[in-house]
Amino acid sequence: MNPPDPFLTSLYDQIEASSAHGSALLAADGRQVRGPITMAEAEPWTVDLIAAMSRHRRDGTLRCCVHVTGIQPAAILAEQPDVILCWECYRASTATRVCLSCGRFAGSASRFGGVEESVRGIGLLYSRMLCMPCVRPASPGGTFGSG
Ligand SMILES: [Zn+2]
Ligand SMILES: [Zn+2]
Repeated sequence: MNPPDPFLTSLYDQIEASSAHGSALLAADGRQVRGPITMAEAEPWTVDLIAAMSRHRRDGTLRCCVHVTGIQPAAILAEQPDVILCWECYRASTATRVCLSCGRFAGSASRFGGVEESVRGIGLLYSRMLCMPCVRPASPGGTFGSG
């Protein structure tokens, strides 16, 4: 158990204190993303992700990519709840992501591609990827790849 990173602690405090600003930054990217959502509106996978992220924050194992230097558009991946990614790293991760449900490759560079679901939280984008076989028919989200 490490002491919480003072930078991350202050970053989080800033994110939480400026929810409108964080949401505006994410919205400015022009993506169609649902949110901002409250915990009450969150789907189980989002609740699990937020809980896992909070655990990492509490025990000092939460990290962020080297490009996060303050409040900026950032994202966290459901399959990797201990790292906050800047927008560029988040976008770059799309190619190699894995399915949250079965762990198979489901990124845009994989054979069949996958379906990403993302929602806007207070100042972070929460995202999960599912491979095509794991996508339920009712699941919303953008599709890429050949599927
Ligand atoms: Zn980065
Ligand atoms: Zn899958």
